Amino acid sequence: MALSELGTTNKQTKQMYMDLEVPDDKTQVMYVWIDGTGEHLRCKTRTMDFIPKAPEECPEWNFDGSSTGQAEGSNSDVFLKPATLFKDPFRGGNHKLLLCETLKYNRKPTETNLRMTCAAAMDKVKDEHPWFGIEQEYTLMDRDGHPFGWPKGGFPQPQGPFYCGVGADRVFGRDIVEAHYRACLYAGVKICGTNAEVMPGQWEFQVGPCEGIDMGDHLWIARFILHRVAEDFGVVVSLDPKPMPGNWNGAGAHTNYSTEAMRNEGGIKHINDAIKKMSKKHEIHIKAYDPRGGKDNERRLTGLHETASIHDFSSGVANRGSSIRIPRHVAGEGKGYLEDRRPSSNCDPYMVTERIVLTTLIETE
Ligand code: ADP
Ligand code: MN
Ligand code: MN
Ligand code: MN
Repeated sequence: MALSELGTTNKQTKQMYMDLEVPDDKTQVMYVWIDGTGEHLRCKTRTMDFIPKAPEECPEWNFDGSSTGQAEGSNSDVFLKPATLFKDPFRGGNHKLLLCETLKYNRKPTETNLRMTCAAAMDKVKDEHPWFGIEQEYTLMDRDGHPFGWPKGGFPQPQGPFYCGVGADRVFGRDIVEAHYRACLYAGVKICGTNAEVMPGQWEFQVGPCEGIDMGDHLWIARFILHRVAEDFGVVVSLDPKPMPGNWNGAGAHTNYSTEAMRNEGGIKHINDAIKKMSKKHEIHIKAYDPRGGKDNERRLTGLHETASIHDFSSGVANRGSSIRIPRHVAGEGKGYLEDRRPSSNCDPYMVTERIVLTTLIETE
């Protein structure tokens, strides 16, 4: 038996049970939350006797925070506060995925619940209509930690033919990518595209444009769906920003950003103003752009492999070696959006988008 088959079950056998009819008024709602790592997701399900149409209709719930790095064993209940409801692409029918915030016993957010402050910041700037689009890069891995599709005990040919590639010797894991795309569309996630990346086994999907808090909500649930789809295929998704050291591209979460003023005629002036403000807060942004305050991104933002050095701020039109890129078509039209290339693939989008609006729209110095 191949390693990838260990501990797996027969999906065809399972399907027989999934095809059974269940009572119309019973809905399975899977509560999903970010755990104590700030990076990984957890989930559990309960039955409801109605079909929830909005997150507020779902009851608060709780879980054992001592098993997720979110509480001590002696005071272990952590609350799940419903935040956003999506259709469940795995169970289908009226079943739901419910993204939740985590609250401590005193109803304060847990350390890795960054949604609450993000939502407050987005509310303050709602008249500016901030839009975001995040390009989520990730790497598929075998369960032994070896990149998916790479020869065991060796390396593929050097990078070059893989980016946006086609062919059995160039892309690995397209089934997962296609399944994830459809599952996101079904769920109601604002996924807007996908492509194979520069390192073999590495892929990207894009979510957006999303206004305000929706960016974090939609990206987190899209990540959940990706982990869950890959699980069905016996493959692991890594969001490590530099899964393979050496001459292999890392993985980021380029964050595209605009306000209404930037999107309107003459918006380039507002784009340049925002870049100027961001240039003065480079270190603060780097701290917010991975779950370890910049430590993870250190391995990726080297100045090589289409990145800018973690130590310097830079910006430029069509420059993929700068911290912030103004896309060529945006410079041409004199309006649109900017791309912040610094966020790490494992960043928390709530923290990233909050930091961007704090710097560009809220903080005066
Ligand atoms: P790249 O050329 O960097 O690979 P992609 O096509 O992968 O760009 O991603 C572009 C992203 O920009 C998408 O997530 C899209 O939703 C987002 N986007 C497009 N227009 C805007 C806008 N006006 N404001 C914010 N984000 C935007
Ligand atoms: Mn892209
Ligand atoms: Mn990319
Ligand atoms: Mn990009």
